[in-house]
Amino acid sequence: NAFQKLGLDAEMLQAINDLGFETPSEVQEKSIPILLEQETDLVALAQTGTGKTAAFGFPMLQKIDFNNRTTQGLILSPTRELCLQITNEIKQYGKYCKGLNAVAIYGGASITEQARDVKRGAQILVATPGRMKDMISRGLVDISKIEYAVLDEADEMLNMGFFEDISAILSHTPKEKSTWLFSATMPKEVATIAKKFMRTPVEITV
Ligand code: AMP
Repeated sequence: NAFQKLGLDAEMLQAINDLGFETPSEVQEKSIPILLEQETDLVALAQTGTGKTAAFGFPMLQKIDFNNRTTQGLILSPTRELCLQITNEIKQYGKYCKGLNAVAIYGGASITEQARDVKRGAQILVATPGRMKDMISRGLVDISKIEYAVLDEADEMLNMGFFEDISAILSHTPKEKSTWLFSATMPKEVATIAKKFMRTPVEITV
């Protein structure tokens, strides 16, 4: 399997095999080795449907410690639908990561239930910015120890007016972490976010 040479562990390769993925997509081929080898920030220009969830999902899953219930990875995404879709994909990609708990956090649903799921110990949170900010300000989530932050569809999130929410959320995360930004386009606002929150990111385009 062509995924083997990207540096993925047996747990990931088994999941890939189950899913029937035969060849890494371009964004996966370019991102996965870098994210596995280096603790680096990344800016990836990639459209939806190019396999970017796996491009950041597999490295995050491989690096997270699932013996530990601390929240270590945060994925921000523009909509509830995407949030649920990413959570579902992460669960599939991490089906052999024993102890994995990934929780979706989004508006328009019970905050109490989401808070309860988080409290059980979620290593990965997949969230829309508004609800995430709300939960932080109510003290319902702790992202002070995350090591990986993903800004997915960054251009869409900024189009939807989430700049302030994203800034507020990232201000609650440690300085020492890796931030991976994925965007279909690179308007000024995305460059501003990258400049404000990232340190000399590796840049890839597919
Ligand atoms: P995404 O762009 O991450 O939303 O992925 C789009 C779809 O492609 C999802 O349904 C994935 O399950 C699928 N997919 C991702 N990577 C691969 C791959 N390397 N080979 C085949 N299908 C894939």
